[in-house]
Amino acid sequence: MKNIFFKQVALFIFLIPFYATSQSSVQSSSDSLFIKQISDDIFQNGKTYEWLHQLTKGIGGRLAGSPQFAKAIDWGKKTFESIGVDKVYLQECMVPHWIRNGKDKAVITAVNNKPVITQLDVLALGNSLGTSSKGVNAEVFAVNNFEQLEANKEKIKGKIVFYNYHFNPTNISTFISYSDAGKYRWTGASRAAKYGALGVIVRSMSGATDNNPHTGGMEYNDSFPKIPAVAIGLQDADKLWNLTKSSSVKISMATHGKMLPDTIGANVIAELKGSEHPEEIISLGGHLDSWDINEGAHDDGAGVVQTMEVLRVLNALGYHPKHTIRFVLFANEETAGRGAEKYAAVAKEKKEKIIFAFESDAGGFTPRGFSFSVPPSSWTKLNTWKSLFEPYGGSTFTVGGGGADNEPLQEAFKTPVAELSPDSQRYFDIHHARSDVFENVNKRELLLGAVNITALIYLIDKYGL
Ligand SMILES: [Zn+2]
Repeated sequence: MKNIFFKQVALFIFLIPFYATSQSSVQSSSDSLFIKQISDDIFQNGKTYEWLHQLTKGIGGRLAGSPQFAKAIDWGKKTFESIGVDKVYLQECMVPHWIRNGKDKAVITAVNNKPVITQLDVLALGNSLGTSSKGVNAEVFAVNNFEQLEANKEKIKGKIVFYNYHFNPTNISTFISYSDAGKYRWTGASRAAKYGALGVIVRSMSGATDNNPHTGGMEYNDSFPKIPAVAIGLQDADKLWNLTKSSSVKISMATHGKMLPDTIGANVIAELKGSEHPEEIISLGGHLDSWDINEGAHDDGAGVVQTMEVLRVLNALGYHPKHTIRFVLFANEETAGRGAEKYAAVAKEKKEKIIFAFESDAGGFTPRGFSFSVPPSSWTKLNTWKSLFEPYGGSTFTVGGGGADNEPLQEAFKTPVAELSPDSQRYFDIHHARSDVFENVNKRELLLGAVNITALIYLIDKYGL
C-alpha cells in the first residue's frame, strides 16, 4: 500500500512541471492548480453521493409521467435552490405516460407437447401494450437476427418470436454493442407482427452473467398489430435458445402495459449568470427520469448529481463564470426524449446562443475521458488541454458522442456537444435492469466523474471553444 502511495506522490510531483511546460499557453499551471482545488473540494465536501442517495432511495424509479417523477422534479428544483444559484426554473413539457401495470410473466408450458412449468425472468419493454387477461399462449419461433426472421416469414404466424441477438462481446466500448443490438428492442415487435406473430421475446441488451432482464424503450409501427414485447434475462435466453434448437416450445406470456394520455413533466434548469458573455450559454446536464423497475442510480442518477456537483463546487470555490452556465435535468430521455426536444425548441424560440452542450449519461463509473462532436478548430484546442485531465483519469478524448439529450440541439443548431466517457465494462450489466441501484455506484468513481466534468466546463468557460 505504502509503495503505491509513494509512487503516486512521485508521479504527481513529476507531472507538475510537465503541465507547466507542455502547454503552449501560460495558463496551464494555474489551471492545473485550480483543477486540483476542484478535485480536493469535491472529494472533501462533495454532496454528489448524498444527493444520489436521496434521489434513488428517497424517490426511487421515476419513469416519466409517474408520481415519483413528479417528486424528482420537485427534489431537483429544491436541491438546486439549496446550492445557491442565480436562477432556477421548470421548463414544462408533455411526456408520454406508460405504465407497467403489473408483474410481467413468461412460462414455458410445454416442450414437444409435454407439459412443463419453467418460469422465465422477463420484463415488458417500455411503451409496449399488455396481453389480454388470458395472456398469449403460443409456440416459440426463435431467430438470431432479422435476416433469419425474414427468411422464415411464412412460419411466424401465430407464434411468439424470440430474438436471440447477442450483445457483441468483441467491442471494447460496450456502447457499440448496445447501439448494434438496440434495433431488436425498438423495432422487433412490429417487424414480427408484420408476419402475424402474437408476441416477441428479446434477448436483453447486455453481456452480464446474471439472469436479470434489461427493459428499455420500444416503438410500434402503426401499420401492424401492437403485440406484447418482453426482454428476457441472459441465462433464460440461453436456456430457451437451446430448447428451441431441438424441440417445439410453448410459452405463456402475460404483460399489462398501458399507454395513458400524455401528462405534464418538466426539465429542471438552474443558471449561473456569465459576467462577460451572459448571452452565451454553456449547457450541461443529465436526465432525471429512469426506469420503473430500478432506482436509476447509474442511469442517470449519476449524471444528475454530477451536474449538481459542478454547480456546488464552482460556487464553493467562488468561481464567477464568464459565460452563463446552465445546469439541466432533462425530463424524458428513456421513453421518448420529449424533455430534450422541448429544450431545443425553447432555445430556438428564444434565439439562445448555446455555445456548448454537455451530458453525463453513461453511468457513474471511473471516468476515462470525453467524447466530442465539435468543429475541427475546437477539437484542436481541446487536445491542448488533455494533460490537465491526466491526474483525474479523463484524458482519453474521442470523436463522435454528445449524449441523447443534446441530439435535438445538435440537429437544429449544430451545437458543439460532448459527453463523459466512463469505463463502460460494467454499465450494461446493470443498465435498465433491477440491479441499477444506489449500492452499485462507487462513491469515488462517481465523484471523479464530477471532477473531470467540472474541469472541462471551467476550461471551456475560461478559454472558449
Ligand atoms: Zn440514460
